[in-house]
Amino acid sequence: MGRLPVSLRVREHLVVTGIVQGVGFRPFVYRLASELGLTGEVGNTATEVFIDVDGPPDRLDDFARRLRDEAPPLARVDGVVRDRSPAPRRTGSTAFRIVDSRVGSGERTIVPPDSSVCDACIDELRDPTNRRFGHPFITCTDCGPRFTIITALPYDRPNTTMHEFEMCSACREEYTDPADRRYHAQPIACPVCGPRLALLDSAGNAVTGDPIAQAVEALRAGQIVAIKGLGGFHLACDATSHWSVVELRNRKHRPDKPFAVMVASMAQARSVACLGDAEAGELQSPASPIVLARAQRRSAVAEPVAPGNPLIGVMLPSTPVHHLLFDAGAGPLVMTSGNLAGEPIVHGDEDAVTKLGPLVDRILTHDRPIAVPCDDSVVRVVGGRLLPIRRARGYAPVPVTLPAAGHPVLAVGGELKNTFCLTTGRQAWISQHIGDMENLETIRAFEQSVERFERFFAIRPTSVAVDAHPGYASGRWARQRDSRQSGVTSVQHHWAHVAAVMAEHGLEPDTEVVGVAFDGTGYGSDGTVWGGEILLADARSFRRAGWLRPVPLPGGDGAVRYPSRMALSYLWATGLTWDPSIPAVAETAADEQRLLRIQLERNVECVLSSSMGRLFDAVASLLGVRHEITYEAQAAIELEILATAGVAEHRTYRFGWDGQVLDPAPVLRGVVEDLDAGASVEAIAAGFHLAVAGAVARVVEAVAPDSSQPAVLSGGCFQNALLLDLCQERLGRTGRPVLTHHIVPPNDGGLALGQAYIVATQPIGT
Ligand code: ZN
Ligand code: ZN
Ligand code: FE
Repeated sequence: MGRLPVSLRVREHLVVTGIVQGVGFRPFVYRLASELGLTGEVGNTATEVFIDVDGPPDRLDDFARRLRDEAPPLARVDGVVRDRSPAPRRTGSTAFRIVDSRVGSGERTIVPPDSSVCDACIDELRDPTNRRFGHPFITCTDCGPRFTIITALPYDRPNTTMHEFEMCSACREEYTDPADRRYHAQPIACPVCGPRLALLDSAGNAVTGDPIAQAVEALRAGQIVAIKGLGGFHLACDATSHWSVVELRNRKHRPDKPFAVMVASMAQARSVACLGDAEAGELQSPASPIVLARAQRRSAVAEPVAPGNPLIGVMLPSTPVHHLLFDAGAGPLVMTSGNLAGEPIVHGDEDAVTKLGPLVDRILTHDRPIAVPCDDSVVRVVGGRLLPIRRARGYAPVPVTLPAAGHPVLAVGGELKNTFCLTTGRQAWISQHIGDMENLETIRAFEQSVERFERFFAIRPTSVAVDAHPGYASGRWARQRDSRQSGVTSVQHHWAHVAAVMAEHGLEPDTEVVGVAFDGTGYGSDGTVWGGEILLADARSFRRAGWLRPVPLPGGDGAVRYPSRMALSYLWATGLTWDPSIPAVAETAADEQRLLRIQLERNVECVLSSSMGRLFDAVASLLGVRHEITYEAQAAIELEILATAGVAEHRTYRFGWDGQVLDPAPVLRGVVEDLDAGASVEAIAAGFHLAVAGAVARVVEAVAPDSSQPAVLSGGCFQNALLLDLCQERLGRTGRPVLTHHIVPPNDGGLALGQAYIVATQPIGT
C-alpha cells in the first residue's frame, strides 16, 4: 500500500494488556501493521505491549480490531486502550519496527505458561525435507516450553535453561527475523545446536541406539519408562497391557487411583473416552490438559488403568518427544507423574535416576534442564464450560486480574492440593499445583516455589494470608517465616472458597453473595469441622447463614478413609437401626460395630462435622457403592456416575430446613426405605443428588430472597459435575446469577486466590 499524504494520516498510541509477552505478540503486530501499510513501532513495557502507529483513521480502526481478533494462539488480549494524538508523526520513518523493551530497573515482565507443540511445528517435525525433521525440541513463538524453563525475568533466552545452548547461525537468523515464525522464540533449537535426547537404563547408564526407537521398543515389550516432559518426568507404560499397568501400580504403590492416558490423536482419544465438542476443544488447546471424561465402554485401554472408575483422564501429546514416540509406533500410554507417593514430581536428572530408577526399566531424558517443576493439569467440562480440577502445566502462572488493587499479599493456601498466590496491584499470580503438604519434600518444593515467585515478580508481600486451621503446614511455615507474625492473617476456609469465585468473576470486594461451600473438611470459626456451609459473604466479612447438621466423625481420619463408618454414624444420628440388610452395615464386622457404637454413644474420639463430602461418602456406602477409599473423593465420584445413570427414574427426597440447619435425616430415611423396597441404586443416587440441589436452591432463596444477589458455588464437592449442573440449573430458575469456578479449582487448590483477595482488599492495619 502506498503512502498517503501526511494530512490524511493520524497517529495513535495503543496499550495492549493481557498475555501479550513471550507469545509472539510483537511480531504479530509487526506483520499486521506492515500488511495495513502503517508505520511506527511496537515494544514491551513491564507487563504490557505499547504500539505507536500512524496511518489513515479507517485502517487504524481495522488495526485495533484485528489486534484482538487475530491475536496469536497463546496470546490473550484483555484490553486495547487507544489514545489518538492530533499531531501527525514527525519522524521520517517509512516502516514499522520492533523496538527494545521499555522496562525500568526493578520492573518485571509477564511469565507465559507452557504450550503444547503447535500444528505447524508438528508438520515440520514429520517433513523429511525440513531441517528440523524428527527434532525432539522443535518449537516456535506459538508453542513450546515457557514457565518451566525460566530461571529469571525478563523472559529472554539468557534467563532460561536454553542459555547453555548457543544458537547456530541458521537458528539465529530465524530468531532475529521479525517475519519469521521463530522471531524471538526463546527456546528455538535445531539438530545442530539444540538439546539432545538420551535413553538410560534404571541405573542411569546410557543405552546405545536411537533413544526414541529403543524407548518405544521397551514400552511395547511391557516395560516402564520414565519420560522427561515439560514440567517433570512421567512414568509411562503401555496402557493396553493389563500386566504392565498392574506392574506400574505395584512399583508405584498406588492401588486404585486412576492413571491418565496419553493418546496419539483425537481419533484415538475418542476411542478411549466419550468427548463432546467442549472436551475436544480443551484437549486440543495449547494448555493440553488431562481431560476427565466418561470412558468408552469398550476400549483398548486395560481395566487397571482406572479400576472401577467410569471416568478416564485423557490427554494429547504435549511435546515433540511424545509425538515422536507415537510416530515410532507407541500405542496409548499410561502417563502418570514421576514421583514417590505423596512427593512432588521429579524434575531433575539426578533425582530421575535415584528416585525413579528403582521404579522403571528405562529413562528417556535430555539435557535441557527443567527450571520449574510443573505437574499436568486436570480439567472437566460441565455445561460446556471448563471446570479446573488441578491447575498446573499450561495454565500456571497466568494471573487473575482482581477487581480492585490492594497491597501485596502472599496467600499460602491450604493443606491438600496446595497452591499459593502472590498479589501485586490488581494481579494475582497463582502458583502451579504444589501437592499435599504432608511431607518434607513437598513443603520444601512449596518454599522454593514461593521464593521463585517473589523473585520473578519482584514482590515483597506486606501481608501473609493463611487458613485458620492451626495444624496446616502452610500456616505453620508462614508463621515461622514471619516471626513477628505482624502480617499474618488467618482466613476461614469456606469464606476463602467463596472469595475465590468472587475474585475469578471480578466481583467488587463489597458485593455480597450467597456462598455455597461444600467440601470434605475445613476449619470452622467455632473450632469444629465445617464443610456444608451457606455463607452470606463479601470480601470484607462473612456470616454463616446455614449449615448441614453436624454428625460425629468417629475416629477422625478413619471416618474419611472408611465411608462405611460415616454411613453408620449418619444412621445412628438419624435414629435408624443398623440393619444388616443395609450394605454399609453388612460390610462392617460385628466387633467393629460394637466399638463404633461405644465411640458414638460415649462421644469418644468423635469430632463433629457439617461436611457435605462426608454425607456423600455415607450415602455411597449405604448404597453399597464403596466402603473404603484409597484416594480422595473416590466414593463420591462413583456415586456421581451411578446417579448420572439414574436421573431419568430418580427417587425423590427432601432435606429438612429450620431456617439455619439443613437436616439430612428425612433424606436418609427415604434412602433406607427405598433400598429396603428394592429401588435401583442408580435411582436412589440420582434422587440424593437432586435433593441436595433442591436444598441448595431452597436455602439460598431463604437466606437471600433478592434473586439479583449472586449465588456462588465452591468447595471440593463441586468437582461433581452432576451436582454442579443440578445446582446451577435450580438456582438459575429464579433468574439469579450463579457463579462458579472456571480458572481455579473448586477444591482446596483454589483457596489461595480467595485468601489473597480477602487480605489484599482489607485495609492495612486491620
Ligand atoms: Zn510451534
Ligand atoms: Zn540451530
Ligand atoms: Fe475445602
